[in-house]
Order: sequence, then structure tokens, then C-alpha cells
Amino acid sequence: MPDQKLEQFKTLLKLRGLSMTSERQQILRAIVALGARFSVDDLYFAMHECGMKTSKATIYRTIQLLLESGIVNESALSGRQASYELAEPGEHRLHMVCQHCGKTSEVRGADVDRFVAQISESHEFLPLAAQIKFSGICVDCVEANPISLRRETCVPFLKYYQSRQTKPADAS
Ligand SMILES: [Zn+2]
Repeated sequence: MPDQKLEQFKTLLKLRGLSMTSERQQILRAIVALGARFSVDDLYFAMHECGMKTSKATIYRTIQLLLESGIVNESALSGRQASYELAEPGEHRLHMVCQHCGKTSEVRGADVDRFVAQISESHEFLPLAAQIKFSGICVDCVEANPISLRRETCVPFLKYYQSRQTKPADAS
């Protein structure tokens, strides 16, 4: 297992006043060994097949810590069960979740990384991980529901944005 991931995890645990237990270390090793996108169930079955005994609750709690430490990212999938994958160092993702159909799309790349870096710098904050989520309506749902969604939801949004754009600059 790359030492860097272990050190990264230890840093988060130390900040949270937690210790690196052998169970936490075993779960991180199993994730690295899997090397693919996984759900809590996938990891649970893979670990049990290799004779490593741990509960789904422990796996779930450890994944939450790994998310906070930036070692894994939640992966965008439309299915009900959350899935995760190992994060590239310094890589951030933004998820857009449609509240109408549940579709989740993922944005990553230089724009998102730059956004996180700029905000962190201006607020003098060192982020270990960033989980950015936009909740809203996808274009397919807007087009499929022209009356209800446009009238009730999109029109107020558009009015809001238009008012922001036409707002005169603050006199200073
Ligand atoms: Zn949708």
C-alpha cells in the first residue's frame, strides 16, 4: 500500500483524536487492493472471501473517515447504493444531483481543482477533501416537464439570476 495514503489517513485520525486500528488499516489495504469502484457490500464480501472479518457498519464508518481524509471519493452513480473509489492526490469532484429523476453527474478536472484551491487560499484553509454537491434539476427533466418545472422552479431561479446580473454595482 502506498505509504502516502496511510500517512494521509493517520493525519485525519490524529486530527479527529482517533487511532489507527488494525481494522481501519485492513479496510484501507482492502480498498487499495481492490483498485476499482466499490460499494460497502463489495468491500464486505471481498474482505470476507479473504478471511478478514469485519462488519458492514465498521466498513461504512471507516469509509466516512476515508472520504473526509480525501483518500476515497464518492462515485457518481444513478443507483441507490453509494459507491466509492480511490482518489487521485489533489483531485476534487463536484456532483450534480437532479432532485426530480435522481440522476447524478460528476464534474472533475482543472476547473474544479482550481475552484477548491482558490476558495481555500482566500479563506486560509487547508482542505483534506472537498465534497461539493449541487442539488437541482437536470436539463432532461426541465425539457420533459415544461409546464410544472419551468413555472414552479425554473422561472424563480431565472428571475433570481437575472436580478443578480442587472443589480447595479455597490457604490464604494
Ligand atoms: Zn432529472
